[in-house]
Amino acid sequence: MTQRYDVAIAGGAVMGSAVAYFLAADADFDGSIAVVERDPGYEACATTRSWGGIRQQFSTPENVKMSLYGAQFVRRAGELLEVDGERPDLGFKERGYLFLASPAGLPVLERNCAMQRELGAAVAVLEPAELAERFPWLNLDGLAGAGCGLANEGWFDPSALLHGFRRKARALGVAYVKDEVVSVEVSRGRVTGLGLRAGGRLDCATLVNAAGPQAGALAALAGATLPVGPRKRMTYVFDCRAALPPLPLVIDVSGVAFRPEGAQYIAIVSPPLAEDFERDDYELEYGAFEEVIWPTLAQRVPAFEAIKLTGAWAGHYDYNAFDQNAILGPHPEIEGLMFCNGFSGHGVQQSPAAGRAVAELIVHGRFRSLNLSKLLYARIAEGRPVQEENVV
Ligand SMILES: Cc1cc2nc3c(=O)[nH]c(=O)nc-3n(C[C@H](O)[C@H](O)[C@H](O)COP(=O)(O)OP(=O)(O)OC[C@H]3O[C@@H](n4cnc5c(N)ncnc54)[C@H](O)[C@@H]3O)c2cc1C
Repeated sequence: MTQRYDVAIAGGAVMGSAVAYFLAADADFDGSIAVVERDPGYEACATTRSWGGIRQQFSTPENVKMSLYGAQFVRRAGELLEVDGERPDLGFKERGYLFLASPAGLPVLERNCAMQRELGAAVAVLEPAELAERFPWLNLDGLAGAGCGLANEGWFDPSALLHGFRRKARALGVAYVKDEVVSVEVSRGRVTGLGLRAGGRLDCATLVNAAGPQAGALAALAGATLPVGPRKRMTYVFDCRAALPPLPLVIDVSGVAFRPEGAQYIAIVSPPLAEDFERDDYELEYGAFEEVIWPTLAQRVPAFEAIKLTGAWAGHYDYNAFDQNAILGPHPEIEGLMFCNGFSGHGVQQSPAAGRAVAELIVHGRFRSLNLSKLLYARIAEGRPVQEENVV
């Protein structure tokens, strides 16, 4: 059976559903939209395995601006994504990020904070004395200061945002097709349709790649190169016997990150670059907790010396090996092929800005709200990386 839509979106988690929502909500767009999602229970996608963190402490102005808009959107999500009187509750915990800095890292942190503030972010650089006063549970050894989010930073429920976008997109007429894209038809340099695992075909003039960690594989189906693949990340859940005040999300100088999760805590660390290769398995591994995370936690927060590991989960970053930043917009040679990929660990918070940006490119042929030209796909062929220093 062949179905026909103007725009097909491959992948219907937070990014695909954000693009679908912004497209369907645009008064200037009157085409038809289908989202093809192979796993509508969202068991294995990056979105539902994410920490849902949002921060403006980035080194790239585009990332700061995208996350400022993300915070605005998260605050208004209930109202914007309401369907039949039901409003999604994102449970935004505005507790801030605390980026710890060594003496060598402090000048970089100060430079980044100045840029973030210029763009309207409420962030401050705290000196050790201020850190001791505000965060008495923190061991300051080896620290020269920290970047502290004063507003619009914290974490929210990524599944609630994904389902909010999806429900609203459906209410606006978007079709969700449970299937897997297994081929992309390109004829005379234009996308013309998709082949589906169940045997059907879907004609379309525009294909948005929103396949998350599988985005590189999806691009290859169209004959395009995209440096995005799955990089495994383990999250560890632990209990702490000592009572602590509400913690922010802390990024240690070692790269270990931790934050409260309900009455417990979660922690993560990225592997060293040389050991960080493409992997798409979900096997639980505990080496990083024992060798890196636990000793770091115990050193940085003395109360964490007596913690108990209670669980763990595996997930995959949608990792852009070229420059760890979003890859947006059209392929320069394959007409109708659009990217919304490569968010490398910060895609949930950027989904409102990225979804809006890609929808604007489809409907208006240009960015209207936020100029994200620096993040266009074209930079890859041109060898022009946009390097983000604060990838967690
Ligand atoms: C442990 C962890 C922590 C994270 N923490 C944060 C954080 O704190 N803040 C933040 O902003 N981001 C965070 N992220 C990153 C964030 O989760 C991702 O950037 C974001 O979810 C990407 O969304 P997506 O919709 O593009 O990808 P996904 O959520 O992976 O969705 C892609 C979808 O495409 C579908 N798909 C793939 N191929 C096909 C195909 N061929 N046909 C049909 N469907 C297909 C998949 O089934 C999937 O549902 C984290 C990620 C992980 C793993």
